[in-house]
This record gives sequence, structure tokens and C-alpha cells, in this order.
Amino acid sequence: MERREAIQERLAELTERVSAVQAKTDAATARRDAAEAELDAEEASVAKERELIAGSVPADLLKLYEKLREQQGGVGAARLYQRKCEGCHIELNITELNDVRAAARDAVVRCENCRRILVRTSESGL
Ligand SMILES: [Zn+2]
Repeated sequence: MERREAIQERLAELTERVSAVQAKTDAATARRDAAEAELDAEEASVAKERELIAGSVPADLLKLYEKLREQQGGVGAARLYQRKCEGCHIELNITELNDVRAAARDAVVRCENCRRILVRTSESGL
């Protein structure tokens, strides 16, 4: 009789632990599902924004960008920041900087090292 009670007690304890683990699993699943939904919404939003921007880029430049992006691990253009290409993190030498300075504002300039399109800003160091 005593053994039966001990077994029932152990069974109740284990059943309770299973319930607790199941509750944690359910909560984690709900958090995962919510995070996935958030990521899906963000992905859709970013894709729409990208589509709008891509639509305003000349076709030949977009084609070049897509080609570079594929070759360069997903990054086809990089900011020129303080004389460095943020794609390969190499500082442009003086000749390269002078070439970029001399280029027309709307000219497509590329990094001599990684060949990515360089995006010039007021912080490019030109
Ligand atoms: Zn580069």
C-alpha cells in the first residue's frame, strides 16, 4: 500500500513537471510565432521600400548594382566614409580620392579595391 502511494505521488509529481515543461514550450512557441510574424511584416515592408527605390534607379545602374551585390556577398554599394570604402574597409589612396573628387556628382564611382559602387556623402572625406 505504501509503495502504491509512493508511485502515485511520483506520478503526480512527474505529471506536474510535464505540464510545466509543456507550458514553457507553448510560451516559447508563441514568442517564436510572434517574432516570425514581426519578421515577415518587416520583410514585406523592406521589400516594398526597396522596390520603390529600385524603381527610381536607372536600369543600367541597377543592373550593375545587382551584379556587384551577387559577387560581393550581398553588398553591391558601400558608403565612402572618411576616405574609406565601407565595403572592404580599405582607405582610398590620394590618387583614387582625387579621381572621386574630380568625378561628376552623378557619376558612378567604384572602389578600386573591391569594385563596389561608392556612395559619396558629406562625410566621405573628400
Ligand atoms: Zn571597397
